[in-house]
Amino acid sequence: MDLKALIRDIPDFPKPGIMFRDITTLLRDSQGLTHVIDRLTHQCHSLDHKPDYIVGIESRGFIFAPALAYQLGAGFIPVRKKGKLPAQVHSIEYDLEYGTDTLEVHQDAVQEGARVMIVDDVIATGGTAKATSELLTRIGCDVVSFGFVVELRGLNGRSLLPDVPMVTLVEYD
Ligand code: 5GP
Repeated sequence: MDLKALIRDIPDFPKPGIMFRDITTLLRDSQGLTHVIDRLTHQCHSLDHKPDYIVGIESRGFIFAPALAYQLGAGFIPVRKKGKLPAQVHSIEYDLEYGTDTLEVHQDAVQEGARVMIVDDVIATGGTAKATSELLTRIGCDVVSFGFVVELRGLNGRSLLPDVPMVTLVEYD
């Protein structure tokens, strides 16, 4: 299935010069959605490295991570924007193109040494995934892999990430 054909390109969003890859058109397509989850699952199986938890990054990571966790028989852990999680958190601040943002995870989200896979819809510069990886390492997790539906290869985000397997389904230059 041609997943790229189901992803809509929105020029100049969220600001001039950016080509935004809109996955809502993929999500609304029942076959496309099934295909994405099946292919992510299949690629994870072929890695042969079963994670204990799938970590989803707010907000679009929450669309894919729980479905993948279900398929793999893993748990789901949310990494959220600042101020959303109710219990004690660990936080990490990271740089955006303009300014900074903060991601948080519950301090007791996982046991020390848990094997986690980090999932988001898109990897662009890699800053969000890198910050998430650092956050999870700080609470004692072993980050064993990453999964993204879309990789914007020209931005070389993967170069920021630890050298573990990465699953991606659709690539743009
Ligand atoms: P990065 O930190 O890798 O530069 O940006 C990745 C984050 O921004 C992800 O959480 C992703 O949801 C969002 N993002 C950046 N560019 C796009 C895009 O073109 N399409 C979508 N759907 N999300 C994007």
